[in-house]
Amino acid sequence: MTLFDSPAFEGHEGVHAFADEASRLKCVIAVHSTARGPAAGGCRMWPYASAEEALTDALRLSRAMSYKNAMADLELGGGKSVIIGDSRTQKTPALFEAFGQAVEALGGKYWTAEDVGVSPADLAHARRRTRYVAGLDDHPAASGDPSPVTAEGVFRGVRLCVRRALGRDLDGVRVAIQGVGHVGEHLAKKLRAAGAKLVLTDVNGEALRRVAAETDAETAAPSAIFDVDCDVFAPCAMGGAVSLDTIPHLRARVVAGAANNQLAGPEAGQELFRRGILYAPDYVINGGGIINVAGEIRALERGEAFDPAWVDARLERLMSTLDEVLDQAQRERRPTHDVANAIARARIAGAAAERAAA
Ligand code: NAD
Repeated sequence: MTLFDSPAFEGHEGVHAFADEASRLKCVIAVHSTARGPAAGGCRMWPYASAEEALTDALRLSRAMSYKNAMADLELGGGKSVIIGDSRTQKTPALFEAFGQAVEALGGKYWTAEDVGVSPADLAHARRRTRYVAGLDDHPAASGDPSPVTAEGVFRGVRLCVRRALGRDLDGVRVAIQGVGHVGEHLAKKLRAAGAKLVLTDVNGEALRRVAAETDAETAAPSAIFDVDCDVFAPCAMGGAVSLDTIPHLRARVVAGAANNQLAGPEAGQELFRRGILYAPDYVINGGGIINVAGEIRALERGEAFDPAWVDARLERLMSTLDEVLDQAQRERRPTHDVANAIARARIAGAAAERAAA
């Protein structure tokens, strides 16, 4: 496979590979689009089996960030970086300084932040070499942990979907949550406070028992979560939970959760549509986290303090966008993921055309 033949390649503006022998850094920074603004997206550290695997992930994730940022109506494009390595054993300050140097080399085309395997402490090392870092926790512009904001967006999105699909409020609605990690736990608490009845699962038995006790929830085995009697299925663990294998088991009328890449493929979105299950496109409903990060980038660029009110206003706008996606899908009798993709592409193409004309 060459770069340009990869199914994950979609007109990316730039794909940059960096290696630093002294610190053993090997990373790829993919910039999908800067049409709407500097590309923003986190840095993932993962023990990829090959450079090709890392490249594919960077391409796929950076494109997803363009779509997510466009749907959140942020003045940001999409990018993502991946560091090849084991985050449990191979992290060093020098590695992240070298990574910061790589980000700096792009001259502000790309802003980095946390993702799987990368913490605020790691980013603090990167920040010694570049200012294009968000997701730190030690300055007035810092936005802190994005998970509660992601959970708030997902909570509002679930409420919206329940109103649309079931014509009722959350009180008494049964929600099955797969994964009670950073986002899933906050989501469970918000839903419980709104009167929802919860069924939770997690592969981490200790976290599951704790969150279930705190939210008065039933629990299910990880493999049994697809079969539980519920109105809403909320995937909040890993990607690919919604597939042609799992959909026939679902009893929910709504699928709405925080996980990235919930659909195992576009055919899963088609199948949800065919069965009349309302699906909230993942990168729309889970945009709260990147809105929070965008709040930090905005504050850093203006030399101001972080403004939670700005974030909340953007979150409300995100919910209007979700409502518009669902309206259009209903009107045109199309799957919701299809409509969201089309809107995201149009927003990016519109910004690119404006930039070209300027
Ligand atoms: P996390 O790692 O804190 O939580 C994930 C939880 O899922 C863990 O408790 C894990 O034990 C559990 N899990 C893993 N596999 C499972 C399985 N097969 N069955 C049941 N449980 C399983 O991650 P998070 O930050 O809460 O993110 C959750 C999802 O939301 C991820 O897909 C992430 O990419 C996405 N997301 C997160 C944010 C954010 O702000 N944290 C923003 C946007 C999207």
